[in-house]
Amino acid sequence: MPSPSLLRRFLEKPAPGPEELSIDHAGSSLTITFLRSARARRASLRVDPARRRIVLTAPLRMARATALGFAEQQAGWIAARLKRLPAWRPFADGTEVPLFGTPHRVRHRPDCRGTVWLEDGEIHVAGKPEHLPRRLRDWLTAEMRRRLAPLVQAKAERVERTAKRITVRDTRSRWGSCGPDGALSFSWRLVFAPPEVLDYLVAHEVAHLVHMNHGPRFWALAERLCDGPMAPRQAWLKANGETLLQYGA
Ligand SMILES: [Zn+2]
Repeated sequence: MPSPSLLRRFLEKPAPGPEELSIDHAGSSLTITFLRSARARRASLRVDPARRRIVLTAPLRMARATALGFAEQQAGWIAARLKRLPAWRPFADGTEVPLFGTPHRVRHRPDCRGTVWLEDGEIHVAGKPEHLPRRLRDWLTAEMRRRLAPLVQAKAERVERTAKRITVRDTRSRWGSCGPDGALSFSWRLVFAPPEVLDYLVAHEVAHLVHMNHGPRFWALAERLCDGPMAPRQAWLKANGETLLQYGA
């Protein structure tokens, strides 16, 4: 039999989906995303860097005008945060993307055969324009996999462990993870990060093959597995991690 709280949740109307709202501020209009949440106890604002948006969350029963009024009071904060969000850089002819930290211009080559290749420090993409984003992303993901495999293997050998599997996926909330079965997973977007930052993240996940926690012994091992000092790489990620989310879709 369902518990009363479960029944209540079942009977409640589902929270409506996200909605785009505009707020006037200093003569311009700010766009925010409005969400209702069954768990929210009050109206709140947060930055969602992965989707490059500011989210206003309100309890299900709060009057819309109350939630909006709260956001309007915070218009200055919203404007400042929106300005600081990294600009979206969709994959197209002329876009500049950092390939392992080094800027590369994307060139569309509609008349060429082949798929994607490097030429004179540029990334060339053949085929129809509508296929460019997917082709480029597939290629970047493959580059990431190619760079990752020997790095993981070398570090895993040093701790006499084996990574059962290495997957590259589109995770926006975390850069890497290590499963209890020894499967390592990394975000394909690390293809944009400087090599030493990728090195740190591999060291971090490989250290989890030995210690499944973030205790002092874990951190000591992660530091040893890095090919240079760990702190500046962590600082880079903290300061610049959001910029890795701005490229492509
Ligand atoms: Zn960790």
